[in-house]
Amino acid sequence: AAKTGHGGGPVFATGLDDHARARLTMLEELRTGLDRGELVLHYQPKVTVDAAARVVGVEALVRWQHPERGLIYPDAFLYTAESADLMGRITAVVLDLACRQSRRWHDEGLPVSVAVNLSVSDLRDPGFPEQVGALLRRHGLPPEALELEVTESVLMTDADNALQTLGRLRDMGPRLAVDDYGTGYSSLSYLQVLPVDDLKLDRAFVSRCGVDPRSAAIVHSTVQLAHSLGMQIIAEGVEDADIFERLRGYGCDLAQGYGIARPQDATTTTAWLLDREIA
Ligand code: C2E
Ligand code: CA
Ligand code: CA
Ligand code: CA
Repeated sequence: AAKTGHGGGPVFATGLDDHARARLTMLEELRTGLDRGELVLHYQPKVTVDAAARVVGVEALVRWQHPERGLIYPDAFLYTAESADLMGRITAVVLDLACRQSRRWHDEGLPVSVAVNLSVSDLRDPGFPEQVGALLRRHGLPPEALELEVTESVLMTDADNALQTLGRLRDMGPRLAVDDYGTGYSSLSYLQVLPVDDLKLDRAFVSRCGVDPRSAAIVHSTVQLAHSLGMQIIAEGVEDADIFERLRGYGCDLAQGYGIARPQDATTTTAWLLDREIA
């Protein structure tokens, strides 16, 4: 597959002959980059779906600040990283950066929680839940300062194992969310048993709910489903005020999207948070 950054062009050489070499180059540079601390986080706010649109948390999204190639987006390197068993290291770095930033915000009187995305290998690692517990203790953070997001497809890759790990993660105290809900070919049966707090409805449904009655019906009924299961629902991909108002009508709890705020670096996010006077 072609590796492209959000700018559209190939980040690393592609083409059939070059493919294997490009992959190796990327991995070598990624290992070095990890050692040099080149991974950075951008943060995208989550707000309540009401007139106040109060900020309750932010999602941490990883980027690779490459010294020559510039800012590289996750879609361009996470797949390769996973295939080379580098995701464990990446998650550890991301969790550490996220907790450090959350600590800083708490100290500045901005009590936002930070959500981190997990991968298949994290849920396979039997030591992972304890790692999360140790991290929260090290940073002196209350467990609710951290949320962990797991996509449906990650959950389905190794469902029995994933369920066990989620149960143990839940004991460590952070909130748990199912990400990209509705796209992972999963069934309703796992909703009966998953120990999660939040469902994040995929933007494929959310972004179309203003123009497509079927999408609107799916969004509306998923809100009701989540609520009847005692879960909160988070709509992602909210790109304009019209969708926000619709979500309000459906009783959706939280929203995230370019229409509210784009992911930004920590400094810009802090300014944004202070501007909203959430303190
Ligand atoms: P995701 O977890 O579903 O994150 C949301 C993605 O949608 C982000 O892209 C975000 O920038 C983008 N987005 C947010 N609001 C809107 C909107 O209104 N419209 C549109 N069109 N897009 C929006 P990003 O940062 O490129 O991340 C892509 C994916 O990479 C993430 O999807 C997540 O699955 C993965 N990812 C990002 N950071 C991490 C990480 O630290 N660890 C792991 N394991 N995966 C990560
Ligand atoms: Ca996510
Ligand atoms: Ca998502
Ligand atoms: Ca996604």
